[in-house]
Amino acid sequence: MKEAVVSELILNAFEARTKSYCPYSGFAVGAALLTESGKIYRGCNVENSSYGATICAERCAALKAVSEGDTVFKAIAIVGAPKKAKEVKDYAYPCGMCRQFLSEFASDDITVIVAKSIDDRKIYKLSKLLPEAFSSDSMK
Ligand SMILES: [Zn+2]
Repeated sequence: MKEAVVSELILNAFEARTKSYCPYSGFAVGAALLTESGKIYRGCNVENSSYGATICAERCAALKAVSEGDTVFKAIAIVGAPKKAKEVKDYAYPCGMCRQFLSEFASDDITVIVAKSIDDRKIYKLSKLLPEAFSSDSMK
């Protein structure tokens, strides 16, 4: 993956994070999802007073893409930190549910970028973060 694309995704994830609705946890997350079409979909975590109804940033971005007919995912960048934090001090990894959700739309594999800044990031393949994922192949 080209460095410019990685940087663009991280910047978009930071921008998405500013929209986070997290009055309960106070932990703001932003995600930027690149699809095969070349479009970038932003998502933020959207919490709910009924906690189980909360949607993570990653699935927010994924739902936006799929609902627009973009169903082949290439990469996603994720940034998370307390809402009031001036800087991101840790990597925010996707939760188990989001790893499973993203795997549904991986034609090959998905690049997962977790970042503290443009320069301070780690890059994985989803298959490494979710080995032996349950998929439609599992039901054959
Ligand atoms: Zn999640």
